[in-house]
Amino acid sequence: MKLISAVLSFMSLFSFTVSNVVTEKYAALTFDDGPHPVYTAIILKILYENDARATFFAVGENAERYPELLRAEYDLGHDIGNHTYSHLKMTEKNAGKIAEDIKRADKVIYDILGFTPSLFRPPEGKHGEYLDSLIKKMKKTEVFWTVDTRDWAHTEKEKIEENIKANIKDGAVILFHDYVSPPSPTPEVLSEILPYLKAKGYKFVTVTELMTHKAYIGGKSSFFIG
Ligand SMILES: [Zn+2]
Repeated sequence: MKLISAVLSFMSLFSFTVSNVVTEKYAALTFDDGPHPVYTAIILKILYENDARATFFAVGENAERYPELLRAEYDLGHDIGNHTYSHLKMTEKNAGKIAEDIKRADKVIYDILGFTPSLFRPPEGKHGEYLDSLIKKMKKTEVFWTVDTRDWAHTEKEKIEENIKANIKDGAVILFHDYVSPPSPTPEVLSEILPYLKAKGYKFVTVTELMTHKAYIGGKSSFFIG
């Protein structure tokens, strides 16, 4: 009897503990269009302070201009993806230039970091059968997003934060930009939202890491060109 009551009180203690444990959830923060001479370093500092890993989809010509920032992204444990060399629009009109532009960005990244990125995000998320098969042939994976912050359009920070809070879930991929014309709302949003989401149980990992997670839902896009 004594043993049973001891077991029961242990169990109630256990269930109390379990109900108070915050369930761990995974999300990927992604930053397009950089590196930027001002914002990239600020964002790297905020990510570091919040123990968050992210994925930077670099534009080749910006990486070429700011190689030390691309290097810093990688050295701090973030993923680097290809976002074309010149932020080329993925339209039929540009079909002849698309492969060349992506390869040119690969070369810039390779010359700085010594590897060719396996992740690719098309500018504006626009893709279609032609691009999908080209990217497959290049042995890359296309990455889209599940939450669009519209930070590039200087959306008010309160609106961005509401949008993230309403739409983030386990496996989410959030689209930000480190290259935004000043003033960018992105650093302030990150400083405010990362501690909040961490307290809700979110762990911020690279896209490569998130892809191994069962809840990964970032391989879809609502934009599609034929
Ligand atoms: Zn872009």
